[in-house]
Parts: sequence; structure tokens; C-alpha cells
Amino acid sequence: HHGIGQVLQELGVDAINAAYSTGLQWGGTSNERILSISSPTDGKLIGKVRVATAADYEQVVTTAQEAFKTWRLVPAPKRGEIVRQIGNKLREYKEPLGKLVSYEMGKILQEGLGEVQEMIDICDFAVGLSRQLHGYTMHSERPAHRMYEQYHPLGVVGIISAFNFPVAVWSWNAMLAAVCGDVSIWKPSEKTPLVAVAVQHIIKDVLRENELPEGIFSVIVGDAEIGSLLSADERVPLVSATGSTRMGKKVGAVVGARLGKALLELGGNNAIIITPHADLDMAIRAVLFGAVGTAGQRCTTTRRLIVHADVYDDVKQRLLSAYPKLPIGHPLQEGNLVGPLIDTDAVQSFTKALAAVQAEGGTLLTGGEVLSGPGYETGTYVQPALVEAKNEYHTVQEETFAPILYLIKYEGTVENAIELQNGVRQGLSSSIFSLNMRETEAFLAHTGSDCGIANVNIGTSGAEIGGAFGGEKETGGGRESGSDAWRVYMRRQTNTINYSTQLPLAQGIKFDI
Ligand code: NAD
Repeated sequence: HHGIGQVLQELGVDAINAAYSTGLQWGGTSNERILSISSPTDGKLIGKVRVATAADYEQVVTTAQEAFKTWRLVPAPKRGEIVRQIGNKLREYKEPLGKLVSYEMGKILQEGLGEVQEMIDICDFAVGLSRQLHGYTMHSERPAHRMYEQYHPLGVVGIISAFNFPVAVWSWNAMLAAVCGDVSIWKPSEKTPLVAVAVQHIIKDVLRENELPEGIFSVIVGDAEIGSLLSADERVPLVSATGSTRMGKKVGAVVGARLGKALLELGGNNAIIITPHADLDMAIRAVLFGAVGTAGQRCTTTRRLIVHADVYDDVKQRLLSAYPKLPIGHPLQEGNLVGPLIDTDAVQSFTKALAAVQAEGGTLLTGGEVLSGPGYETGTYVQPALVEAKNEYHTVQEETFAPILYLIKYEGTVENAIELQNGVRQGLSSSIFSLNMRETEAFLAHTGSDCGIANVNIGTSGAEIGGAFGGEKETGGGRESGSDAWRVYMRRQTNTINYSTQLPLAQGIKFDI
């Protein structure tokens, strides 16, 4: 079916009976808890994987710690060379890996392949970065003194990832960590462990060919329990966690209690503002991709549309005519643009949110059905919903990880729209469509959007890896991927060197006895 059997074989994930993998080897486990992974696309069983135990976890951490001792001695540009080889391996396996991402997670094939391309791109980025891990040099206040700072590797980095970007998020973290001299332990989502197994199989050859130790990259399969072990572990100086705000509050508290570093990439409640000065053709295309792309399961999915009263009816009509035409179906079938939700629990959250928002006074304009019949037997396919609502509704304030777009009307100036856009607890992505420079600059000013990402005439989703990615408020404050996001994967050290014959104290203090 869709050649998945062959894909699994090509990726080396046809026979899975081990709980975890360190860098090169699948480890065994006595655990009888098994995750059976079925595709949300057709309900068929893809594979089974055992859940790691606490003892397995111990072994992975000690293997990683050992590997760190070797890896940190490899010069950074040479570490970059290993990442370059990983990027090339991913190029070789782009087709089957992209297909498996699509089949296990449910995103359309183009997006599955796009996700692997993002992994390749971040490898390239990290290779360049491996020669640019720089600090500043400052002038000392004391004569014949030099002061500068260096960035040193941190150690073991824990990576907890979400189901919706099941492989890209790992690469954003692991490839940067690798050039920084860190080793990483990946705990993938328990909803999508097979792609993680596949990635491990792909990169293990690179480690082997370069005679590098086991444990530079490790995968450990498990759910929140294994995630909590990572969060609580003092041997893991940095935990990078991507997922819901609910999860982030727990992980952040546990890591914080031991004063470790947490990099949190949590939920969004992203809005597009459409002003009377918008290019509406562009805006509608951005809204459609942002709201229904990946079936509304992106952290940057457009969830709220804040539209000026003057263009509101026009925007509403255009969306009303587009929504019923969306091609919904098997994501590996060409032409389909909307795949399934990850599971029937997600479908329940979708229908519950729609009922709740209507009880609060919202109007369901179109969509909202759970699809049934041929091709939709899994009960995971839904018709994306368009709802007229108010920003202050409880339902609108929450992130429902499904394709629901709330249409919100504003009047008067762009400041009113910005106030609505900022009037939620999350702060990931935001966007304005306007050709009026006063409006767009107001949106980008410090009094404008309060999000980590603010776009003009581009939608909320589809960030480039070159920029720092992340958000404010309940989105967690973390930044990953481009710009100087690498700094969080290293520890900063300030060094002062005295090459004089005196020992002058700072602030001119005299301390002679
Ligand atoms: P989730 O929170 O259910 O799970 C994410 C990961 O956290 C999983 O690996 C899970 O096992 C682990 N986990 C759960 N509870 C834990 C705990 N107490 N301790 C340690 N680990 C724990 O999220 P999901 O349903 O997989 O993904 C969807 C969510 O992720 C959405 O809220 C979405 O916005 C968010 N997300 C954010 C970003 C971002 O970069 N900001 C990117 C992708 C997804």
C-alpha cells in the first residue's frame, strides 16, 4: 500500500523490537510495554516498538556522557564535517524518509519531503556555523590586561519533540548541538517514534564510517515518563522541549527546580490581521495555507483572522467559497491538500471546541464535520471549520490543534487589531496584510505585535531556518534554529588575562596589608 513496506525496508525499520538506540546499536529491553503505531491516514499498523525502561534510560545517558568526552575534543569545523555527511545521507534518503513522515504523521507528501529538506538545510547551516562559534573581546579597565569570552560545549542535550514536526525539530536541535560539541538524546513523540528510528538508522552509518563513538546521537523511545527522567536529570544541562504549553509548564518547572536550562517551544494562537489596505488575493492565499495546511496541526497555524469591518464581508465570502473546495484525503495521494488529524482524540478536541465556541455565541459558517465513507474509514479526517467569533471567548483563547479558523471583526485603526492580536496568552507567530506603511510599521514596532515572529504580507506559518524560531509568553520564550540560537547550546566563559607585572584590582580597590 503506497509502497510503505518497501519504504520501511529501505529505511531499516522493518523489524523493530528494541526499545532504544544509542548511537550505533539497538539496545534490548525487558520492558513488555509496546507501542503499536498505526497510520492516521488509513489505520493500518506500520510497526511496533518497545518502550524504554528507567534502566534503559540510565544506559543511554551513560553512553552519551562517555561519547561527550570524545566528541568535545573533535575541533568544531571537524564536527561540522560530520554534520555535512549527515546532510548528504539525508539527501540520499529524502524520498523514503519524507514518505514515512507523511504516512506516520499524516501530512501531505510535499510537506513530508519539505520537512526532510528542512533537515538538510539545517545541516548546511550548522556546517557553516561550525566555523563561527564566536564570542566578543572587550577592553579591560586595567592596563596590560585582556578580556574576552569563549563558548564551550555544554554536555548532554535532551531533545523532547512533538508529533507534528516529527523529524525537523530534532535536526534543529541536534545539528546545532553537534557542531557546538554537545551530544544529544532524543525522545521523540510516542505518536511518531518510527521516523525517529529511521533517522537513527540513516545517521548511524556516518558515525560508523568516521569511527566515532556510540552515543553522540541517541534515541530513546517512550512517553512522558522518559521525558520526565530527562527533565529531572542533573546530567542533562539543557532540555529542549517542543510541544503543548501544558507539557512545557511541567518540563520548565522540573528543569527550573534543578536550575538547569530549558529551551521551550510551545503552543501558539497565531493571528493574521487584514486591514482595508491589504492585497486581498495574497491575503486569502496566505490564510488558506496557514489555516488548513497540515490540517491545522502546525504550531504556527493561523487560528485567528482579525479583519477590518470594511473588508470583512468580502474576506468572509472568499473563504466561504474556498473552504468547501478543499481536497481532503490520503496525504500520499497527489492532489490532496488536507490530510487527517493525528488520531481520534484530536478529532474529539476539534468537535468539542466547535461545540464550545458555539455555546459561547460563535457561529459556525462552514465545515466542522468528521468525514466518513470510502477513504475516510479511520474517522481522522475532518472538514476544516470557519467560525465567526469574539477574541475573548474561552475557546478562542485556547490552542485547539486542529483546523478551526476564528473570524474576528475589528473597527477603526490598526492599533485596535494589534490589541486583539496580542490579547491571548500565547505569543508565537503573527502577521499583517497591508500595503500601508504606517500600519505595517505600527505592527512591527515595540508597541506592535508581541510575538516571536511578526510577518508583513506573508502568513503565520512556514518560517525559514535562517531566522531564530520561537515565541513569547506561554509559547515558552525559547529560540531555535538560525541566527544566534546556537548560543543556548553552549556555556559562556569570560576570561581575563593579566600580562603586566602588577596586580591591579577592579574598581581601583586597594587591598594591601
Ligand atoms: P505534547 O505536549 O502532547 O507532547 C510533546 C512531547 O512532550 C512528547 O514527546 C511527549 O511525550 C512529551 N511530554 C509530554 N508530557 C511530558 C512531561 N510531563 N515531561 C516530559 N515530556 C513530556 O504535544 P504534541 O501533541 O505532540 O504536539 C502539539 C503541540 O506542540 C502543540 O501545542 C503545538 O503548538 C506544539 N508545537 C510547538 C512548536 C514550537 O516550535 N513552538 C513546534 C511544534 C509543535
